[in-house]
Amino acid sequence: MEAARPESMPMITPSEVIEHVYCPRFTYFMNCLNIPQHEELRYKVLKGRTLHEHRERENTSYLRKKIHCTGREISVYLASPALRVRGKVDEVLFFDDGSAGPLDYKYSEYNDYTFKTHKVQSVLYAMLIREIYRKPVHHGFICYTRGGSKVSEIVYSEGDFRNTKGILDEIFEIITSGYYPKRTSSTSRCADCCYKNICV
Ligand code: SF4
Repeated sequence: MEAARPESMPMITPSEVIEHVYCPRFTYFMNCLNIPQHEELRYKVLKGRTLHEHRERENTSYLRKKIHCTGREISVYLASPALRVRGKVDEVLFFDDGSAGPLDYKYSEYNDYTFKTHKVQSVLYAMLIREIYRKPVHHGFICYTRGGSKVSEIVYSEGDFRNTKGILDEIFEIITSGYYPKRTSSTSRCADCCYKNICV
């Protein structure tokens, strides 16, 4: 495992990672130039983010039984100086094969876009759980509570962990060196971006 960075190294949240995936220049404008986003844009970028204040948790005991879950911890704050990531996961589940994994509730409807976004978050929680609990993490779950509840299982591959680690390295490379990253590959995102007037 990579050695922990110095104490002064900032830690980022899964939301910041998603913003970086949306456009790497968000990392530069927010973390290097300290220019905050407008909240309405934040909402747009993170339209699938967890809305804890409106969350409607359903009774998922049937799910836990089905997936051989033997225990859980609720609302767990996870932080890793080695990964340089911190965040709060809704549940850490423990399975009868000795592994563990995250369960996250989302007050949104399931669709492909939000699933991809939430998967990045879920992989980050999986990496945090793996490191902090020292247990293997093979799969996790996202429970969509709006528009008819749906539970999505995510089976993590080593490729998922590698790719996410690569995204983290890219973010910290920008933060520490202050280089101006490439634009998003989806230029349609620029039309209503709050940074469009300063982004060249
Ligand atoms: S204008 Fe486009 S490239 Fe620039 S920060 Fe916004 S989304 Fe990214």
